Amino acid sequence: MSVRVRFAPSPTGSVHIGSLRTALYNYLLAKKQGGQYVLRIEDTDQTRFVEGAIEGMLRAMEWAGVIHDEGVVVTEGQLKEEGEYGPYVQSQRLDLYKEYIKNLLDSGDAYHCFCSKERLDEVRENQKTAGQTPKYDGFCKSLTKEAVEKKMAAGEPYVIRLKLPENKEIGFDDAVRGKVTFNTAEVDDQVLIKSDGFPTYHFAVVVDDYLMKITHVIRGEEWLTSTPKHVYLYEVLGWEAPKFVHLPNILNTDKKKLSKRQGDVAVEDFMKKGYLPEALVNYIALIGWSPEDNQEIFSIKELEDKFSLDRVSKSSGVFDVNKLNWINSHYIKESDIKRLTDLAIPYLIEANYITEEEAEEKYNWLQEMVAIFQEKISYMSEIKDHVDIFFKDQVEPQDQEAQGILKEEHIPQLMEVFHQKLIDSEVVDKDTIKRIFKEIQKENGIKGPKLFKPIRVAVTGKSHGADLPLIIEVLGRQKLLSRIEYLKGNLI
Ligand code: GLU
Repeated sequence: MSVRVRFAPSPTGSVHIGSLRTALYNYLLAKKQGGQYVLRIEDTDQTRFVEGAIEGMLRAMEWAGVIHDEGVVVTEGQLKEEGEYGPYVQSQRLDLYKEYIKNLLDSGDAYHCFCSKERLDEVRENQKTAGQTPKYDGFCKSLTKEAVEKKMAAGEPYVIRLKLPENKEIGFDDAVRGKVTFNTAEVDDQVLIKSDGFPTYHFAVVVDDYLMKITHVIRGEEWLTSTPKHVYLYEVLGWEAPKFVHLPNILNTDKKKLSKRQGDVAVEDFMKKGYLPEALVNYIALIGWSPEDNQEIFSIKELEDKFSLDRVSKSSGVFDVNKLNWINSHYIKESDIKRLTDLAIPYLIEANYITEEEAEEKYNWLQEMVAIFQEKISYMSEIKDHVDIFFKDQVEPQDQEAQGILKEEHIPQLMEVFHQKLIDSEVVDKDTIKRIFKEIQKENGIKGPKLFKPIRVAVTGKSHGADLPLIIEVLGRQKLLSRIEYLKGNLI
């Protein structure tokens, strides 16, 4: 039987890095095994539905190149479906859940529960006070058929719960964790149908995974404790359960669960900052999976080839943004300069350095400018902090170190000769600058840092940075002259 996997997000907000990893591992297994990767929307909790979340999620997946074979897609701005196991949105499958809940009620594996919220809260509080794990106390489990009918006729609100046997071991083989067992004493009589008539996640996920012929359920570790309920449901419905694969948590470098408080966690945050999709995918793949050797740089095609479930780790992975930056800067260095320029332009427009028209007119110049910093940036939005020098009319020394450099005794003389040599040169490119530097060394005896540093500060305001002759060439003769003149007239 061919492998069928699914990524089943709930449309409750932006896509978390952990969800991208879950999607990626599903995708990789499907590719590796020549199977199908399905994307299903789990929107049974209507109170948590966030407008636009499905579209945002699909955009993030498309950006990352983690593309599904079946399920919900956006075509010409419209949500559509592709595949023969639809609908792929749970709120459109309500009739299917009704059919299967009826089977469970008929067989006595589910029951109606009329307990009010107040009663449930009270039970929970009492259990907590008594030091017990809070769980439903089974109050409605043995209501007679007549009592149920009477309450229903009176219009009392109800839910439908799974009837778990008492004190039974439920076990399954997890592809990552091996044999996992739970005793039903630790598990709640799970609500399967809520009072609004919608199924809960736990019921819908089982029905859908079965009907969509899912062979492997690959999801985050947070679902591990729910799995016994699902396994039991498969059993009473008479269905073969899929293989379960629970992925380890992703932690921050401080070993706490990855959360917004410690930094970016949404794929969208990384898109906005200008990370390259192949770098994020490469990095994410390595949080929780490792190859047989020490390889760290993988294209998605290579990952498709090398990925295997047996190398998914049991222990939590750490999200280390420095490592991500290292991988991202690797991909930036390897990237075509045109691609980088196209990626840089929106940040330059946003910083008001250029307009859209100027971006077109000056495209070649922008390309040269971006190329200077290709080796320096970790992600594309950083470009705007480096290139400010090209768009200012004047620059001022930016810190104490830079200020100090301009106070040295030889500066007036240096600037004077440098200025004169610029005036005498019609073209100022990097070779001219190198020639001028050599001449000053010879004629005035100013060399090394005493020569380069003040000129760097004069041109950029900064005491450190990328290749100076290149910066000067891209800056152009006119701007260069006006900066030196400003410095002579105002700063020294
Ligand atoms: N809808 C669940 C979520 O958003 C999916 C869990 C599962 O894959 O079974 O995490």
